[in-house]
Amino acid sequence: MMTELLDKLKTETVLDRDGYLSLIRNRAQIREYAAGLAGTVRDEVYGKKIFIRGLIEFTNYCKNNCSYCGIRAGNDKADRYRLTPEEITGCADSGYELGFRTFVLQGGEDAYFGDDILVPLIKDIKARHPDCALTLSVGERSYESYRRLYEAGADRYLLRHETVNREHYGMLHPGGMSWDNRMQCLRNLKEIGFQTGAGFMVGSPGQTDEDLADELLFLKELKPEMVGIGPFIPHKDTPFADRPAGTAELTLFLLSLIRLTLPDVLLPATTALATVDPKGRELAIEGGANVLMPNLSPVNVRGKYLLYDDKICTGEEAAQCIECLKTRVEKTGCEIVTDRGDHIDRKVRN
Ligand code: SAH
Repeated sequence: MMTELLDKLKTETVLDRDGYLSLIRNRAQIREYAAGLAGTVRDEVYGKKIFIRGLIEFTNYCKNNCSYCGIRAGNDKADRYRLTPEEITGCADSGYELGFRTFVLQGGEDAYFGDDILVPLIKDIKARHPDCALTLSVGERSYESYRRLYEAGADRYLLRHETVNREHYGMLHPGGMSWDNRMQCLRNLKEIGFQTGAGFMVGSPGQTDEDLADELLFLKELKPEMVGIGPFIPHKDTPFADRPAGTAELTLFLLSLIRLTLPDVLLPATTALATVDPKGRELAIEGGANVLMPNLSPVNVRGKYLLYDDKICTGEEAAQCIECLKTRVEKTGCEIVTDRGDHIDRKVRN
């Protein structure tokens, strides 16, 4: 019964809400079957290639107060830092030598990095590495700002919607943030032309199975080029310090459902997943993921970009990370490639 439902999802690439809900509720029996199907679909679309993105966490200043996040404005124990544009381009240069062809600039919502700083920085990175893609993940900005960043040469943008449920969003984001604005930002990014990434945390406080079924329906409708999901992990200096973490088991199952629902999607095995399960990245790849995002930030700041407790790989150099990942990926029968790794519909940007 449940395997038939998965076969139906593979063929039709969508189920109704009850269908997703029963898969989620009965996943214990079908986890391996789901992973196998999703791995096959990934192979059909992208082959056994795993794309790598060099993550540059360039500022941990943030004006927002998300209840789950360790770099929330209200956490006065966070040790704040900002990289200079020269340090950021230096990270990209060394990443290029290691085979990275996508760089991801991620940070808190830091007013210091206005368009006046980001636009020349994007142009500089793209001029130094014209064969590379540049991804931004710097939160909510105006339509005009997104347009300027795109015109400066940024190719992709990651903005997790965090939850499809408006009330749940309000519980996770006290203060000035709004679900409607988050969703509008995603639509704006797509309209401007970015390859756009949405996503959510698995097991965030207050999340229900129904919410997860709605996540899958929402993703099917939005059709983002990328989807980032990872388990919620508590951070000791946040309001959610005592809440339980999301599980690797549920995250892995949802990754497979996302691959079956959006066969073409670029789907990372996230650091948060690897933090809750040492085998998380390998299992995610076996279950349909095809992206890894190792850290390229300078080692002296890595221990400061702490969204959650016990984050892995905060002490290693990028070169060590890539060697470790190559070994892990080979064990799954896949292979890390030196490639921009664009979405299959978007190989050529016009
Ligand atoms: N400021 C940017 C980047 C956010 S950090 C933005 O708003 O998009 C990237 C992602 O980390 C967030 O979207 C969130 O889903 C995730 N994250 C934050 N805190 C987390 C936690 N405690 N556990 C797991 N993931 C977390």
